[in-house]
Amino acid sequence: MNGKTFSGNFTQQEPIPEDAIAAATEVLRSGRLHRYNMVAGEEPHAALLEREYAAWQGARHCLATTSGGAALQIALRALGVRPGDRVLTNAFTLAPVPGAIHAVGAEPVLVDITPDLVIDLDDLARKATASGARVLMLSLMRGHLPDMDRVMDVATSHGLTVVEDCAHTMGARWDGRLSGSFGTIGCFSTQTYKHLNSGEGGLLVTDDPRIMARAIILSGSYMLYDRHGTPPEPEAFADARYEMPNLSARMDNLRAAILRPQLARLNDNIARWNERHAALEAILRTCPAIALPDRPDKALRVGSSIQFRLPGIDADAARSFVDATAARGVELKWFGAAEPAGYTSTWRSWRYLSPQSLTRTDKILSTLFDMRIPLTFSVADCQTIGEILVEEATALAAGARA
Ligand SMILES: *Cc1c(COP(=O)(O)O)cnc(C)c1O
Repeated sequence: MNGKTFSGNFTQQEPIPEDAIAAATEVLRSGRLHRYNMVAGEEPHAALLEREYAAWQGARHCLATTSGGAALQIALRALGVRPGDRVLTNAFTLAPVPGAIHAVGAEPVLVDITPDLVIDLDDLARKATASGARVLMLSLMRGHLPDMDRVMDVATSHGLTVVEDCAHTMGARWDGRLSGSFGTIGCFSTQTYKHLNSGEGGLLVTDDPRIMARAIILSGSYMLYDRHGTPPEPEAFADARYEMPNLSARMDNLRAAILRPQLARLNDNIARWNERHAALEAILRTCPAIALPDRPDKALRVGSSIQFRLPGIDADAARSFVDATAARGVELKWFGAAEPAGYTSTWRSWRYLSPQSLTRTDKILSTLFDMRIPLTFSVADCQTIGEILVEEATALAAGARA
């Protein structure tokens, strides 16, 4: 197949904005990078970020951490998850999620997904009963939102406390309500490929003062917890200050300084991502060989990546599709590969898990492709990429018929 090629870089994010660079430079000049290192009258960036993110998210409390994975681990400990406990999570997720569950000594119990790439609520109900788990770590992988009202109904009826993994849904909404505000705790990542970029970083939100007190101490606050942006009342720390271990997962002022100006632009960037995602999706929808996940009307996505399936293809065809698109400059990940590669692994390569059977998920992943949409791509770039994908998917389908 010849025709158009694309020359953009799929891992190139936008530069850090100039006002963020200026703020970072000021922090560097001050030498006060540690979040509790402050002079009288100064409010450190880490605390300000917590206050601003809590306001943006509509949460009572926010804690800034070193990574999204650290936030997930803190969430589980703050909820009192103990070694040997079982924790439910989606089978389609990123390695830091089962990693966080494993790190607290708990056992991940993986729940199947549907072809729309969201948690399968029947499997969730079944496994909630069978496992005796008290916590669901709901991973909103690649930004796909399940019917959150139904998820919360299943959780309530099975006595599950919900932690939302919102690494890909910062700014997404279900029925107008922000992702991360349904569960008891919402966790976010500010790693370079998420919706805010500080290289590494994480945010944890909750409305529960006792949980936030525990989370703050767990993050490594020593007894300086009053220097946080949205600390609960001192009484909330009465037990936590003695009972919670220090995990040293504090965010520093340098990263917080570059995140605050980005937060001010987040709504604009969400609109820019969605414009690009819509352009791509419109072209992919013209191709009968390509299946896109259904998005309920109530779900507002943040289109920082796109996923689609080529139903019915086998592993050889999937590999040749990835090769053919790569030859034309379009970098895809395929979730059906036998070996983990780059950022992409699946539950089958997490061998520290106890044996599980997820035939429904495996079948979906075997034909599932994934692509980043960095904001350095223009809408016209997304149209070019869409045309290349449609041509190659059509050629593959024609080859299979011939
Ligand atoms: C990125 C990511 C995380 C957490 O990532 P960190 O790199 O630890 O910040 C968690 N879940 C999902 C689905 C992710 O993509």
